[in-house]
Amino acid sequence: MPEYVASIGMEVHAELLTHSKMFCRCPVAFGGEPNTRACPVCLGLPGSLPVPNHHAIELVLKTAVALNCTVAMRSVFHRKNYFYPDLPKGYQISQYGETNPLGYGGYLDIPRGKNGTKRVRIRRVHLEEDTGKLMHLPAGGSGVDYNRAGVPLMEIVTDFPPDIESAEEAKDYLSTLRNILLYLRVCDGKMEEGSLRCEPNISVRPKGTETLGTKTELKNLNSFHSVHLGVEFELRRQIAVLQEGGAVLQETRGWNEQREISFVMRRKETENDYRYFPDPDLVPMVFEEREIEDLRTGLPELPMAKAGRYQKEFSLSEYDAGVLVSDFERAQFFEEAVKLGGEPKQVCNVMTNQFAELLKESGDTPRTSNVTPTHMVDLLELVSSGAISSKMGKEVLQETFDSGTSPSNVVKAKGLSQITDTGEIQVKVSQILAAHPEVVAKYKEGQANVKGYLVGQVIRATGGKANPTLVQDLVQEALDK
Ligand code: ZN
Ligand code: MN
Repeated sequence: MPEYVASIGMEVHAELLTHSKMFCRCPVAFGGEPNTRACPVCLGLPGSLPVPNHHAIELVLKTAVALNCTVAMRSVFHRKNYFYPDLPKGYQISQYGETNPLGYGGYLDIPRGKNGTKRVRIRRVHLEEDTGKLMHLPAGGSGVDYNRAGVPLMEIVTDFPPDIESAEEAKDYLSTLRNILLYLRVCDGKMEEGSLRCEPNISVRPKGTETLGTKTELKNLNSFHSVHLGVEFELRRQIAVLQEGGAVLQETRGWNEQREISFVMRRKETENDYRYFPDPDLVPMVFEEREIEDLRTGLPELPMAKAGRYQKEFSLSEYDAGVLVSDFERAQFFEEAVKLGGEPKQVCNVMTNQFAELLKESGDTPRTSNVTPTHMVDLLELVSSGAISSKMGKEVLQETFDSGTSPSNVVKAKGLSQITDTGEIQVKVSQILAAHPEVVAKYKEGQANVKGYLVGQVIRATGGKANPTLVQDLVQEALDK
């Protein structure tokens, strides 16, 4: 049985974070009453003229530069003609051609295991407009909502032949790309709201052969998990078809999230002919070297650079730095806590362990959770000053996470405090030693390991509140007397 190689191309659409639409002044937002954010321009009424949104152009240029693309110093908008009700004009304003998109010929390095990266080449980063949404009406029939029509949309497409060879790589490409878009603040990255959409095209071929297999395109993937599962399913399905002697058909397939299977949406007989031509209503975009250079130098610190800085500045391990920067909000939270006086290694430690687990369980993000950077610093100070033990610290963080009460107030309310009074512990030590003469005898005979038992008993006798180091010292002292 031959083994198979996968080839996965990624087409990503990202709605840009602008206040208004691409060619009119209608506001950009999510949801809302249908057709309340539409005007003659985005409804394509005769006589209306488009005026480009310069902020949107700048956001795409930023992305192109961050993705190591060549910037087209002269770039035009084309009309992509097709007839479908989601586009009232009868065409989508987009960008055609190999060297015409605002950015082309770039790459993105994605993390691959320990210290490794894989380079995924990017063919194009272009600017277009989003379409309206067809909706099934509760009373039957369909309606169109044009609130989304004309929203600035960036398309990012990987190069051909594809560099991505597994579902895992596809998912990692998408999360690395999304993270960069969040760092650049060009897109909110909300896959569940459709502001970031990914349509992989997938093919397999027997190992050792050159020609790529027939590809299918997958739609309706609205989470990273779906991208991973969907690509994996499609690879397995295609291999099964080939192994049974069948042929993979070129088709667009949808992902059914509930049943975790893909299904045929439409079959392509021939490639669509969109009859692209330059939009006569829009003048070409022309840039100067100077502008692009300013954009390049003005880019915010991106994840890889940030990780390098964390290692140097805060002596974090490569692994820890990688975990912190792999999520924009996490990195922001970390930096804020450090700015507020948190010790970087301690902040990192709590963030990548208990806090990360709490977030994972609840589905919260650092920003939506009850815990603030100020809370984090408060908590770490309570532990490092010895006011509470690190075990109590865990209990306190849990409480702050659940209720939003600050760690200091949790400690007060619960009466949590570590006993650091030597005299008080001394009394307990004497009591415990007196109650266990046989254990003390064993110690005197040379069984040093029984000391741990006595330490445990003393801590238990104080309700877990005694400072463990102090107890150890005092038990040792008493035994050596
Ligand atoms: Zn409009
Ligand atoms: Mn597109």
